Amino acid sequence: MNSEKPIVGQEVEAYCGKCKLTTGHTITAMLEGETKKVICLSCHAQHNYRRPKGVATKEKGTTESAPKPVSAKKSVERTAKGPAKAAKKWAELVASLNNKPPQDYAMSADYQENSLISHKRFGLGAVTKRIDDTRVEVLFEDEARILVTNRR
Ligand SMILES: [Zn+2]
Repeated sequence: MNSEKPIVGQEVEAYCGKCKLTTGHTITAMLEGETKKVICLSCHAQHNYRRPKGVATKEKGTTESAPKPVSAKKSVERTAKGPAKAAKKWAELVASLNNKPPQDYAMSADYQENSLISHKRFGLGAVTKRIDDTRVEVLFEDEARILVTNRR
């Protein structure tokens, strides 16, 4: 199920260094089956694909050309933001909003503020803000992410 290959033009969650958030991205280039370049749907910057933060991606069957290790200093910056704080806020929000069942997340669907969504990778999230017609900010247990909504 989770072995579907990404293709150019497809939307993926990726970490955007500009937004400093995991946001929706459109794949613009692939290399040897790996997502190479993406365009951030939030700030429209094109950059190399970076895995979403805080998502444990199982790396199985990688190609022989293993990506060179990312410098260790990155992980230091990443721990700077306390996920514990997000988790507490998330728990409170979910508790206050769970009078309605969560909707399954789909890019084409429309989400209102203060509703719960269920994301197949990030889990349960609370829509905290509608950024504009096509983006919402969603607080997940580990961090807030910008998700695409109302996509036509
Ligand atoms: Zn961005």
